[in-house]
Amino acid sequence: MSNELSLVTSEILSCTKCELHKGRKNAVPGEGPANAEIMFVGEGPGQNEDDQGRPFVGAAGKLLIELLETIDLKRTDVYITNIVKCRPPNNRAPRKSEVETCNPYLTEQVSLIQPKIICPLGTPAIATMLGDEYSATRSHGKEMVREGRKIFPMYHPAAALYDASLKQVLVSDFKILKTILSGQGKTDDRSAGTVKEALEKWA
Ligand code: URA
Repeated sequence: MSNELSLVTSEILSCTKCELHKGRKNAVPGEGPANAEIMFVGEGPGQNEDDQGRPFVGAAGKLLIELLETIDLKRTDVYITNIVKCRPPNNRAPRKSEVETCNPYLTEQVSLIQPKIICPLGTPAIATMLGDEYSATRSHGKEMVREGRKIFPMYHPAAALYDASLKQVLVSDFKILKTILSGQGKTDDRSAGTVKEALEKWA
């Protein structure tokens, strides 16, 4: 890991900036190569992640690995993180204030890793990266560009654990992701503003 990325990781591990730190066993900064081309951004750590201090190590993580394998990638090829780095109690959705407080860490991770493409997983991560009007249902599988960076929203793998039909949608969105990575994708270049503006709109 680059020195600067390790610094962000250690800041996250000792962060006490929001209430979520009080209930955590471990903060979950994220993991993967410091020069990863793809970054996956989930909603927040669950119990398994809180226990181990690692992202996506439960059932949703298992499915994420399976999906990566469908396009010949391994977990260790990609950077995986979340919009909040500490587990929300009882797996509730992270609050706007928590996402906002934690967001500088995600911004730092993006600017240090410089991924070619960011895949927000599920509506909370999609809305954080693109704006409140964007949801998984409306925007999954469409490549967009924000601040010069490619964003490719997808359903959260956990959603496919409850609704089996979404697994097929994820499989075909991963195929599109592969096409984009090979440089043959189609970009939707509408401008929805910055992550900061999106957070400001999130009431
Ligand atoms: N779901 C998430 O959004 N993130 C994790 O790290 C695990 C499950």
